[in-house]
Amino acid sequence: MARREFTRTIYAQIVHRATNALGQIQCEGCGLVLGKKPYHVDHTIPDALFLDKSRKLTAEDGRLLGKECCHDPKTRKVDIPAIAEAKRREAKHLGIARPAGRLTGPAFARSDKSLRREAAAAQKAALPPKMMFSQQRKEPAT
Ligand SMILES: [Zn+2]
Repeated sequence: MARREFTRTIYAQIVHRATNALGQIQCEGCGLVLGKKPYHVDHTIPDALFLDKSRKLTAEDGRLLGKECCHDPKTRKVDIPAIAEAKRREAKHLGIARPAGRLTGPAFARSDKSLRREAAAAQKAALPPKMMFSQQRKEPAT
């Protein structure tokens, strides 16, 4: 399902919440006064990790983060790996991803019956090889 975005109203609520008494916008991650520095309203919990997206986002679901000080590092170091891990976990649960193979030890010993069967199969006369390409040329019609 598509990622839920903050509505304009919710976005404004978050920006107001992040504005200090002097009217300056502060990063809600580290408290840096952003001035004219760019910021993002971040999904505190990445939206990709929600299974139920029917609930509407509220101002509590977002944080205003400075792009350079907090948003980009969080996205790169926390959110993307967490989302990737969730996808791997889901794929494994659904049987989509094949688990990495284990190192195998020596095979089980062959049973007597199996050895007898293999010996019998080896004694059977092999079928003549099938000719893949015809060796006879068609005679041109005269
Ligand atoms: Zn910050």
